[in-house]
Amino acid sequence: MGYQMKTNRVVRVILGLIVLILFGVYCYIRASYTPFSDDIGAPPKPAQTAPPAETAAPENSGEAAPEGTEETPAVEATPEPTVDPNSPEGRALAAGLPAPPDIDINSWEYILVSKAHEIGEYAPPEVVKVSSSGCPQDSRIAEALQSFADGCEAAGLPVYLSSGYRTYNEQYQNFQRKLNEGLSREVAATIVNPPGASEHQTGLCCDITDIYRNPKTQDLENTETFQWLYAHCAEYGFILRYPKGEEAEAITENIYEPWHFRYVGTEAAAYIMENNLTLEEFWYLYNGEPVPGSSRFGG
Ligand SMILES: [Zn+2]
Repeated sequence: MGYQMKTNRVVRVILGLIVLILFGVYCYIRASYTPFSDDIGAPPKPAQTAPPAETAAPENSGEAAPEGTEETPAVEATPEPTVDPNSPEGRALAAGLPAPPDIDINSWEYILVSKAHEIGEYAPPEVVKVSSSGCPQDSRIAEALQSFADGCEAAGLPVYLSSGYRTYNEQYQNFQRKLNEGLSREVAATIVNPPGASEHQTGLCCDITDIYRNPKTQDLENTETFQWLYAHCAEYGFILRYPKGEEAEAITENIYEPWHFRYVGTEAAAYIMENNLTLEEFWYLYNGEPVPGSSRFGG
């Protein structure tokens, strides 16, 4: 009897020890894995709260922004992923901007058109009419543009799609009319874009006002309609293509146009609007070609 009780106690003690050892091993594994799994693959983040315009002093443009990485707890054996300075992310980091979306910049929705980037006689593959105003557009943006206009109306505001796709020939005639008035090519080009240099030729942009009769002047920025469109455009994949300000106007070579919205898709639109970029500067992140007039990406 006594022998058996003694054996039971020994068995219990051994079982207890085994449980303790297993618990110890579990704790050890947990302690050594947790910080690891949190940090694996986490890219260094640039400072997101600072407005990019102020942080991006031109002298600093060659350096990566280190702020975001200093706060992270030091964990051994997790090498910082190296960012190629000639990649979109590297160029963005150097200017204190967050990593740009992973996109193919040569896809149709990012096409860049300006006096410096003429598109010849390009025409959209298919043109459809949008909204009750029958505004012609590239069919690929028709749904997004209609939702954008519907969203504005649902907010109780009047909205009018005033001008969309314009053919090369229409632009040619508009420009020719200015030349016929006796203006030089250079002066005419400050008023009407030469054929091949108007974004309207892509069918990817639309001049939007509040009501039919309202002329396209910069006073439009005071309308509630514009303020709603500006605040919500990115949600529908649109940007304000010709933003306000001396630098923006120098970059786009276009005056401030609070009526001209351009489709670029929701990912790019969110990035461009949040970081106050022009489409020209957005392109720089992908192709690295300096942007004349830009304090961040100028040559
Ligand atoms: Zn326009």
